[in-house]
Amino acid sequence: MNSLISKSAFMKAEQCLKHFYLYKKHPNLRDKLSKETQFVFKRGTDIGIFAQQLFPNGVDVTKDEKWNHELFAQRTLQLIANGAETIYEATFIYDDLLVMVDILHKQNEQWYAYEVKSSLKITETYIKDACFQYFVIKNALPNLADFSLLTLNPKYVLQGEINVQELFKTTSILKDAIKNVPYFKYKVQQAKLTLEQNKIPNIKIGTHCFHPYDCDFLGLCWKNIYDSTSIFSIGKLSKAAILEFYQNNILHVEDIDITTISKEDIKIQVKAVKENEEQCQIEKIAPYISLVKEPYCSLDIEVWMPGLPFYQNTRPFQQIPFLFSMNYEEDGIQKQYSFIKPIEEDNRKHFLEQILEATKPFKSILMFDKTLENGVLNQLVELFPEYQEEVNELKQKIVDLEEPIRKNYFYHPEMKGNFTLKSLAPLVNKEDGFNKLQIQSGVVAMYEYESLLQKNSIEQEALKQQLIDYCEMDALITYQLFHYYKNKIT
Ligand code: SF4
Repeated sequence: MNSLISKSAFMKAEQCLKHFYLYKKHPNLRDKLSKETQFVFKRGTDIGIFAQQLFPNGVDVTKDEKWNHELFAQRTLQLIANGAETIYEATFIYDDLLVMVDILHKQNEQWYAYEVKSSLKITETYIKDACFQYFVIKNALPNLADFSLLTLNPKYVLQGEINVQELFKTTSILKDAIKNVPYFKYKVQQAKLTLEQNKIPNIKIGTHCFHPYDCDFLGLCWKNIYDSTSIFSIGKLSKAAILEFYQNNILHVEDIDITTISKEDIKIQVKAVKENEEQCQIEKIAPYISLVKEPYCSLDIEVWMPGLPFYQNTRPFQQIPFLFSMNYEEDGIQKQYSFIKPIEEDNRKHFLEQILEATKPFKSILMFDKTLENGVLNQLVELFPEYQEEVNELKQKIVDLEEPIRKNYFYHPEMKGNFTLKSLAPLVNKEDGFNKLQIQSGVVAMYEYESLLQKNSIEQEALKQQLIDYCEMDALITYQLFHYYKNKIT
């Protein structure tokens, strides 16, 4: 029912009343949810369902029902009246405010509410969310004794079956919730008034558009503001600093007085846009090129970070390497090689052996930002110290092609303030291969890998190929970036 104010809606009012109003009255104007966000939501739901095992044999009020909040709320009250002890997705409506809580459990005639977060840490936003839930539930269910957040325990190590008691950490937010009751009373009135006024609040864009999350209506409010020459295309500059330009009516990069900029990483971007020309300090890039010895290859590794530890002796969100791809040249022909680890088995030792064997013939290994790959190799060698020497040899061969960009030796206006490998793709990969891929980010690759567990063998093969295509494209672009740099020297 549209007149109810859910927790999600209320939190939008906390960010910006215009966000709240648009969300309630014009939901069709929202930006499309990215694949990444959809996967994050799904992970949250999966971990929430798993946490139900902490309080087994409960009743899920949403199960087998059409999505109807009023019905869920009625069902919750009915279950409470009938003596239920554990309720999942317990739903409450009070004063037109609607909240659902993952788990509601009765102990000694008092109720305890638990909200599950698929995270290792508690943030200010989680606490605020939970305080609002407490505010509504306490009014609808006076013998609510406590409200807690359940987060994943970073120290938990899987040994045998998952021990659900040890996997989750419980943190009460009761003190904060009680303290914030007057605040919510005031804020709820303000939100309701905004809806009653029946017109879109006149709120200007600002840093609030990105805090605590990117607003759902950036596409609407920021339309015509973001283009390749606008000040919003400057990367590595805080949103506050960019908005200061904006408020001083400096809307385009060409309006910026370059002499006022002291930071090199900003100066190089402004110069590139003003001159519409790439900035390249070739004498500083040359030493990287001369490090590369033939034969060489490029290498990219993808990792999976399951919230619920999947393999023995792993922790929540531990990085598990599952795929690597290489690009190299043999007899004048471009070749690629990939290895993907079956998800069903841990087999990280075999994965390490495959990388070591595949890279052994090469004297140099090109990477774009070796941070992740180095971390993965360190982790693997910790597990399998017998490979220490070979891993050291591999690491010594790495030439990181991202370093010249990080050190401001190279920037192209087409990068539009973005410093990722993807931003370089249009420059070095003329076939525009990246945009033809089904999977276009490491985060999506990670979730798609996890989804292999739910696929049949035919679907698995198709998806594995998409994952390989993505990783091979990263390796290819890294390889092509090397040649792009090299062509400038020769
Ligand atoms: S983009 Fe900014 S101003 Fe517009 S609704 Fe969202 S938060 Fe408010």
